[in-house]
Order: sequence, then C-alpha cells, then structure tokens
Amino acid sequence: MDNQLAIFGGTKAKSTSFGTGKRFGLEEAQELLEALEQNTLFYHSGRKVKAFLSDFNALYGVKYSVAASSGTAAIHVALGAAGISVGDEVITSPITDQGTLIGILYQNAIPIFADLDPHTYGLNPASIESRITERTKAIIVVHLAGNASDMDAIMDIARKYRLKVIEDCAQSYLTKYKDRYVGTIGDYGCFSTNDFKHISTGDGGIVIVNSDDEGQYQMTHAFADKNFQRFGDKVVKDLYHLAPNYRMTELQGAVGIAQLKKLPWICGKRRDYGDRVTEGIRDLPGISVHRVLENSECTYWFYMLRLKLEELSCSRDQFCQALAEEGIPNSAGYIPTITYMQPLFQQRNAYLNSNFPFDITGVTYSKGLCPIAEEILDTAIRLPINEFYTDQDIDEMIHGIRKVAQYYERKPE
Ligand SMILES: *Cc1c(COP(=O)(O)O)cnc(C)c1O
Repeated sequence: MDNQLAIFGGTKAKSTSFGTGKRFGLEEAQELLEALEQNTLFYHSGRKVKAFLSDFNALYGVKYSVAASSGTAAIHVALGAAGISVGDEVITSPITDQGTLIGILYQNAIPIFADLDPHTYGLNPASIESRITERTKAIIVVHLAGNASDMDAIMDIARKYRLKVIEDCAQSYLTKYKDRYVGTIGDYGCFSTNDFKHISTGDGGIVIVNSDDEGQYQMTHAFADKNFQRFGDKVVKDLYHLAPNYRMTELQGAVGIAQLKKLPWICGKRRDYGDRVTEGIRDLPGISVHRVLENSECTYWFYMLRLKLEELSCSRDQFCQALAEEGIPNSAGYIPTITYMQPLFQQRNAYLNSNFPFDITGVTYSKGLCPIAEEILDTAIRLPINEFYTDQDIDEMIHGIRKVAQYYERKPE
C-alpha cells in the first residue's frame, strides 16, 4: 500500500464509503400499529411500555425497572427516588452529557466533580473519596462511551460512606464489568433511548431499580409519574412531595420492544469493531488506546484514543486533519469544554437571576479542578463506531491511523 499521506497527495486509506443500514423496519411498524389499535397510548392502560420493560428486565436479569421520557429524566427519577434533596452534594464526572447534571440541579442539589482515569475515562475512586463531605449523598458514575468504570472500588467507597450509587449507562448498553452488566451494580442504572444512542425510541429512558424491595420500586415509579402510585386498578393520588411527569408513551414503548431485539447484535458488532481498532493501533508511537478494564467488555458508543503529543511532531489539529484527509471521520476531543468551565458553573446560574443552590455552600468551580479530565479533553480524538460498518471499514480506519501516526512519529535527532 502507498504510505504517502493523502494530505500530501498520496492515496486515501479509505477507498470506499462506510457501511450504513436502516435502524428501523417493519418490526417497529408492526409494534406501532398494535399500539394504536389498543385505542390508548397511555402506558398504564396499554401493554407496550409494560412489555418493553419486561423484555428489558429479562435481558438484564433484573426484577424492577421504570420507564421515563428521556435519559435525563431517568437520572432525575433515580435522584428523586434516592431522596436527593436541597443542599445535598452529588459527586460525578466532569466529562459527560449535561443530562447527567440536570436532575441534580433540579433537586437543588450541588454537583461536585471528581477526576478521571486517564485511559478508561471513568471516575477515579481515590478522587471520589477526596471530594466527600458531610453533605455528600450520592455518586453518579458515568460509564462513558460504552466503557465500564471501576465499580468494585466505587461500591466500596459508597458502602463506607453510605452513599447512593446511580450508574449513568446512557452510552453503555450491555457493557460488562466482571461478568455483570453495568446498570445492575449500583442502586439505580439509568439508560437513554434518544436518537443518538445504541437503540432509539426517538426519546426515552429507563431506570433499573436494583432492589428486591417493592417499596423502592413503587417510589421510583411514582417519581416519574407526578407521584401517582398506580397499583393495578388502584391509584393513590395523595401528594406528599414534588415529582415531575416523565411518563413514556405507548408509541415509544412499541418501538423499544423491536429495538431491544436488535440490541445484542448492535452491541456485539460495536464491541468487536472497537476492540479490533485497539489491537490494530496499540503498538503505535504517540498513541494511547481506549483502555478497557480487565474482564470487562466495552460496547463503544464511540472510540476515543489519546495522542502522546511529546512523541509526535504534529499538533492534535494537524493529526485530525491528516486523518480526515485519509477519509477517516474524526473529531478533536468530545464535549467542547470541561463541564465545570461552562458559564452555568462559572457564573453559578442554574436558575435565571439566582445563585441557588450553589450559594448554599458557596462552592466555586475553577480550571485545574480535575487536571486529568482536562488533559483527556485536550489530547483526545474521537472516532465514530457503528454496527453497520464492515470489516473493510475497520481495516481501513486502522490503516489510516497507522499511516498518520507513523508519519508524525518524532524521530531521534
Ligand atoms: C445521552 C446522555 C444523557 C441524557 O440522555 P437524554 O435521553 O438525551 O436525556 C445522559 N448522560 C449521558 C452520559 C448521555 O450520553
């Protein structure tokens, strides 16, 4: 193969277009038709959301789960059910979707950021422990990009300090941590079915309630449904405290039933493709691969490598551009800035014209708070992984990365 970089006139590493496919088919259409024929789209009257949850429970081997209108809603529901309230502190990751943080602030609790492992991008247990105060009530573990965080160490800390653990699995379907699925290890496991995730119902969410206590399940269920307690035909409408309406409709439940059947295939493909990228580039100078913990399985919502810039004679932008010229789509970093540098945290304005709840403790957020996480965002390159890619796509991705890394390898003087 020609090893001249495409950016200097060489042949592109990617010779054909990437594989694509249809996520939705007649299976979804059939379920939707059945939902409409019920003559109701309300989850409690119809059968689709119930069937979706019971299929999900069977797949995950759990007893209880609750449907929600989004992943953000699922996390808020878990926080509400866990009793997180005004002035409580919740420790979480600074590299995540804002959906992880929204529920914390709507409960008027305070997000506290802990630093990350430099290569799995999961929370660092020692950093979590260093952030614990009298106010700490919960940890939201973000399993980023399909990759499991260090759950044994995190659960040990949670037990020691009696903290609730909420797993944010929005990007991590069927991700394994030591033979257990993430989302089944903490007190709650939260998932998103928005249109960008492994499976889509347009929008939607699920909360696994990891408890054998039916009361815990009912409480979680009620927090997603204006605190209505629906037990069979009996409905309790007494209002003791605030809870939003985050109900899933039968239309989403119907699509979800068909999507769940495809989930094991989707996750299997992504796992194999991502692991093959790692095998194909792990020996390269200047590159750190997306590290997966031992005995764990990553289902790669995306693949994120890091550059060791001291071993390369180019900047990250030059690397990204050269890779793009090879026909390999990629982007520098992930979220535009580390979460706590966003204006919301810098100006401490969750609500317009108010510093509440930040002013309860006077917390401030500054650059350098989580140095490893900041370094990750400054040196990462994100590559899309998709279940519809072909073996050839993966081979050519690897070839493209190899060409660029070898060209820019810093040679001894
Ligand atoms: C997508 C996502 C969410 C929010 O899910 P929505 O369905 O978009 O509300 C939360 N956390 C993470 C890590 C996500 O990727």
